[in-house]
Amino acid sequence: MRVVKGVLLDPGHGGDPEEAAERAGENYGGLSRAAKQGYREECYGAITESGYEEKSATLAVAKKAKKYLEDQRIPVALTRDRDTYVGLNERVATAMSDEFKDWLFVSIHFNRSSGQQQAVNLSERYLAPRGFEIYVLPGTGRRSSNGTRAPSGYLTVNQTRSANRLLAEKIKGQLSDISGLRSRGIKEAWFVVLRGSPMPSVLIEAGFMSNPEEGRLIESSEYQDSLARAIVGGVLDYKGDSIVPVKDERKPRLPLPTMTLSKERSSASFE
Ligand SMILES: [Zn+2]
Repeated sequence: MRVVKGVLLDPGHGGDPEEAAERAGENYGGLSRAAKQGYREECYGAITESGYEEKSATLAVAKKAKKYLEDQRIPVALTRDRDTYVGLNERVATAMSDEFKDWLFVSIHFNRSSGQQQAVNLSERYLAPRGFEIYVLPGTGRRSSNGTRAPSGYLTVNQTRSANRLLAEKIKGQLSDISGLRSRGIKEAWFVVLRGSPMPSVLIEAGFMSNPEEGRLIESSEYQDSLARAIVGGVLDYKGDSIVPVKDERKPRLPLPTMTLSKERSSASFE
């Protein structure tokens, strides 16, 4: 049995461009088109053909996973628990907090197959990709899965490479059991939240919002629930405790402490 002190869930994206710009001390209305689009990408993430935003899917899955973790009496916290803007450095500052020392870090995102944010009028080639991927930090001296080297000025506090990989394998095993959800494997990338988290860390791209069929699934509460159960199942497998059924709806006998995060944490820069 491996000790899992808790799980810090990181629902990707969130908030609105105006809010994000204001937090950065900028007036959104006066920004260039490109700068506005940058904020739209950061806040909304990918958008399905029908207009459903990645920020909503990531928060929904994280909230469901939180409930299942609590049912298992595993302490859990979220880097955001509502629709609000939280920058990458702020997420990293949370992960580095003593409060979450030796926890697991699970970032939740959804994918898209084109540079275009919303899946409208995409060609067949862009509509086709589907399935999930799980990202971990590249090994020391290695390149990312798409061939890039560590960014200049590269700094990581993460020294848990084998645990990252094991957690990714366990979550992959559970997600692969979801009917119709294809595994694209475990990949390596220099994501800020992966290199800034000192604990075992993974980033899940839980499906393609640009794929019309998968996008519709991602919009549904039932499917989000399957994803949440699979993520928690992966954590339990990592813990070596998979005999505890995730589908068990019994309430825990002891009340669990619910942790909410202060929005005003200091930011640490890892760019
Ligand atoms: Zn994302």
